[in-house]
Amino acid sequence: MRWGLISDVHGNLPALEAVLAELDRFAVDRYACLGDLVGYGPHPNEVTAAVADLGPLIVAGNHDLAVTGRLRIDWFAPTPREALEWTAAALTPISRDYLAALPLTGRLGAVRLVHALPPESAVTYLTERTAPEALARAGEWPERLCFVGHTHRPQRLEVADDAALTPQLQPLLSYWTVTSSARRWIVNLGSVGQPRDGDARACCAVWDDDRGILQTRRVVYDVDRVTHDIEAAGLPPGSATRLRLGE
Ligand code: ZN
Repeated sequence: MRWGLISDVHGNLPALEAVLAELDRFAVDRYACLGDLVGYGPHPNEVTAAVADLGPLIVAGNHDLAVTGRLRIDWFAPTPREALEWTAAALTPISRDYLAALPLTGRLGAVRLVHALPPESAVTYLTERTAPEALARAGEWPERLCFVGHTHRPQRLEVADDAALTPQLQPLLSYWTVTSSARRWIVNLGSVGQPRDGDARACCAVWDDDRGILQTRRVVYDVDRVTHDIEAAGLPPGSATRLRLGE
């Protein structure tokens, strides 16, 4: 089956629309979403409704947890905190109910889904320093492959079962056949609605779980439309600057 993979939409409807059009070209059968539908962006209800319509396999991101009272908003830095407070006030009951019910982990065949770091964190960033923490709890996640979001950078990290080997973050390839090996991979799919790797285009991916092939895509979208709506909503202007730079 072919899966369309999206993560970290962050209330950016033009980016989501562009990515879904791209995934349509790949004739994906189903969708999976790694969380953070909301936060930063001006379209939380439109994005939540559009993602819910896909009927995806989905896990909660830290921003989804924060706007539904499952994570403290005052743990966030000032800019995301301001946007989260705006978002929490803007959510319709239908959107809130959908976000409040999202689980922390999911399973796509033999692949684990979690927002930030396996086995179940929606908060801890994937880095070479935190990877050993995920490995130390490997008994809690039997899957050899885990898809995550959260850092907004498309990257993969190979984690050897032998903790003596230092894990290394690498850029995610645009076409990758994931061979079965004695190692674990944690794969960050990048962000639809707020890329932070210096490329302002939206990220998405196609996962063929029969053949073990992961393809990543970058998609141009109407940045002016979303930055206009950020300003009109009175959201922090830094979010608009970030979208133009992809940082
Ligand atoms: Zn995010």
